[in-house]
Amino acid sequence: MKYYNSNTIIYHNGEFVKAAEEKIDLYSQSLHYGYSVFEGIRSYKTASGETKIFKPVEHYERLKVSAQTVNLPYNYDTNELIAATYEVLKRNEQQDAYIRPVVYAPANMSFAPNTESFLFIETWEMAPFLGEKLLCVATSSFQRPNPKAFKMHAKVAGHYVNSILASQEAKAKGFDEALLLDMNDNIAEGPGSNIFFEKDGVLHTPQLGYILPGITRATVFEICKKLNIPIQEGSYSIDELKQADAAFFCGTAAEVIGWESIDDTVFPKAWKVTLGARIQQAYHQLVHEQ
Ligand code: PMP
Repeated sequence: MKYYNSNTIIYHNGEFVKAAEEKIDLYSQSLHYGYSVFEGIRSYKTASGETKIFKPVEHYERLKVSAQTVNLPYNYDTNELIAATYEVLKRNEQQDAYIRPVVYAPANMSFAPNTESFLFIETWEMAPFLGEKLLCVATSSFQRPNPKAFKMHAKVAGHYVNSILASQEAKAKGFDEALLLDMNDNIAEGPGSNIFFEKDGVLHTPQLGYILPGITRATVFEICKKLNIPIQEGSYSIDELKQADAAFFCGTAAEVIGWESIDDTVFPKAWKVTLGARIQQAYHQLVHEQ
């Protein structure tokens, strides 16, 4: 995957500059210890041909919360960052794109806090892929981190070592993706997405506490309210998931994507007639509307 070329523009510390010409400090505390925070955002080409960033305020506010949660100085204004993001997309002539802001620390080989931080926003083209082939998911041997060890509601780079290990393990075993349990053996989330399952006409999803509070997850709640789909949060075992009628992952990158199976259990309901499929369609409409 080529993320940029010699003409690609990024936003770095207040300026629009060429990605290929930028540097970061090799003594950055972020690089050595996984101590940075980031976001994953998408933009879409709407029906009228405009570019629309989906829920930009929610994403940049979560970036701020993530930074504050791990004591990274954060002096950025959400509206300015949104305007800068639109400008990066315009300069790169991108509409259906993935947007990656990162806040990182200066040179600091100690564990001491910093008095400044840096920020860049990268974008690259990413076609929407709602409705692709159903996923064969494997229960991971990796748990999500104990929330007493990490601030799991923050999107911190270091947490993603856990995601990488889980995803690589699942793929090495021939599955499409991993499902991680929490420290109490309840289902938690995917390496980069939240999980929902359907049982007897009701949608269920793990409660907050052990997971990233996904912006897509919140959007699914909004869609369910609009469509009168009953939804519950709780603690669920892997056995309860295996008794479900259907399941799906959701996330900014993944959008809404149905499951074929978990381990060797195939879900009985045809995807097309699930609540997940209705939500997938509603999500598709929502991200593309004005
Ligand atoms: N969980 C994890 C671990 C993630 O990395 C993501 C992607 N940011 C999600 C859930 C879904 O979050 P969102 O809907 O905000 O993209």
